[in-house]
Amino acid sequence: MSARVLIVDDILPNVKLLEAKLACEYYEIITATSGQEALEKVATENPDIVLLDVMMPGMDGFEVCSRIKSNPETAHIPVVMVTALTDIEDKVRGLEVGADDFLSKPINDTALMARVRSLARLKMALDEWRLREHAANQFGVVTEKTNLMQEPIEGARILLIEDKEYDKDKIVDALSSDLSIVMAASDGVTAMGMVASQEFDILMVSLNLKNEDGLRLCSHLRSNEKTRSLPIVMIADDKDMSRVAHGMEIGAYDYIMRPLEKSELIARVRTQIRRKRFQERLRSSYEISLSMALTDSLTGLYNRRYLEVHLGKLIENNNQSKKALAVLIMDIDHFKNVNDTYGHNVGDEVLKVFAERLKNSVRSFDLIARYGGEEFVVILPDVSSERAYMVAERLRRSIGDTPINCSVEEGSISITTSIGGMIVESGIHNMEQVLERADKCLYEAKNTGRNRTIFENKGLITDEDYKEVQRAVYMEDQQE
Ligand code: GH3
Ligand code: MG
Ligand code: MG
Repeated sequence: MSARVLIVDDILPNVKLLEAKLACEYYEIITATSGQEALEKVATENPDIVLLDVMMPGMDGFEVCSRIKSNPETAHIPVVMVTALTDIEDKVRGLEVGADDFLSKPINDTALMARVRSLARLKMALDEWRLREHAANQFGVVTEKTNLMQEPIEGARILLIEDKEYDKDKIVDALSSDLSIVMAASDGVTAMGMVASQEFDILMVSLNLKNEDGLRLCSHLRSNEKTRSLPIVMIADDKDMSRVAHGMEIGAYDYIMRPLEKSELIARVRTQIRRKRFQERLRSSYEISLSMALTDSLTGLYNRRYLEVHLGKLIENNNQSKKALAVLIMDIDHFKNVNDTYGHNVGDEVLKVFAERLKNSVRSFDLIARYGGEEFVVILPDVSSERAYMVAERLRRSIGDTPINCSVEEGSISITTSIGGMIVESGIHNMEQVLERADKCLYEAKNTGRNRTIFENKGLITDEDYKEVQRAVYMEDQQE
C-alpha cells in the first residue's frame, strides 16, 4: 500500500535516514525541518501520516501535534512522534495531545514499518468515510463538524483477554478509573463466548497467554463476524517486537509494552475509543444521507430513483419465480386547483395526508413511491389479479370517500384520484414498459372522467367488479 508520509525533524540527517528507510518500501515522502513548515505541509500536501520529531527549536513536536489534532480538517491524520526521550511523561503528553503513537530513537525498523503500514490502512478507511460524509453534507444532512479529538471517551466497553493476574488488575483499575467498563477473560474460549453475547468497543489481547497463542486469537477476532471491525490493542513484552509487528500486519490497531504504565494505557485506549466513535459518527451520517437520497422528504415515501431500481429487480425476480406482480400509477385529480385555490402549502399538506392514507391501505411488503409531483406508484408483489383490482379500488375509495383534513377554513378538502394498473405476469418485461403500460391506463382513466381505476386487459373496475373481487379475495384468504 502506498501512502504519503510527512517526515518532520530539525536535524537533516535524521530526516534523510527515515526517508531512506521508508522510500525503500515505496512510500512517498515529504519533508519539513521546522514545526511551522510541518503545519504548512500538513495543510497543503495532504499527507497520510506524519512522523514528527519532538525536540525542535521554536515550535516543538507537542505543539505541532496539538495544532494538527485541533483542526477539524486535519485531526484525522495519524501522527507518530519520534523521540530520543523515553520518559513516560513525555510519551503520555504526546498521546494526550492526540499522537497516535511514539517511536523512540534509535528507531526499530520493524516497529516503524508495522506502525506506518497500519496507520496508512487506517487513514484510508477514514478518508473513505470522510468522503462519504462530504457527500452526506451535500444532501443537506445537518451534522456538526466532526472532530476526532472531541469524541467523548466515557462508557466504552472493553474486553480484556489476559491471564496474568497482576497485569489484569492493573488494566482493569486504570481503565475503570477513566470511566470505561472493563470485562476480563483469561482465555480465548471464554472471550469468544463473551463476544457472542455482549457488545464491546475495544478488545485488548495479551500476546503472552500461558495456554494459547495470543496472535492466533487476534487473527480469530479479526475474522469473527461480530468483532472484525473492532479495534484490537495487543499487550506484549519487549522481546515480542516481531510478533507485535505481525499482529499489526493482521489488523491490530495498537500495542502496549510491559511493564504497563497507567497513564500510557489510558492515553492509548482513549485514542482507540475516540477513533472508533468518530468512525461510527461518520458512518451514521452517511446512512442518513443514503436514506435521504432514496426517499422523498415531503412524504417520507421512496422516491422515483429508488422505485426504478426496486421495480427493475422485482421484475427480474418475477420472471424467475412466476409470481404475478401488480403495478399501479395514481395521479391526484385536478390537483392544480388545490394549489391555485388554497396555496402551495395546503397542497403540500394534502400530499402528506394522501401518502399516509396509501401507507395505511397496503401490506407491509407492498411498496409506495412518490413518482412525481402528485403522482404515486404502488407495487404489489405476489398478488392475484383479483387482489390487485381490489387493493387499487380500495385505495381510490380511501382518497375520494373521506375529505382530507388540512389548514383551510372549511377544515378539510375533498379530492379524488385516478388509477391506472397492470398485472405483470412472468415473461419478458422491462421496467420502462411496465410503467408505460400502467400510465396508459391512467391516461384513459383521466380521459373518461377521472376518479376511477382502469386496469390493462380488464378496463374500468365498476362497483359490481369491486364487490365480486372482494368476495374472490375473501375466498382466497379462507383457503390459505
Ligand atoms: P389532472 O387531473 O389532469 O391530473 O390535473 P392536475 O391539476 O392534477 O394535473 P397537472 O399535472 O396539471 O398539475 C399538477 C400540479 O401539481 C401542478 C403542480 O404545481 C402541483 N405540484 C407538483 N408537485 C407539488 C408539490 O410538491 N407540492 C404542491 N403543493 N404542488 C405540487
Ligand atoms: Mg393530477
Ligand atoms: Mg400529474
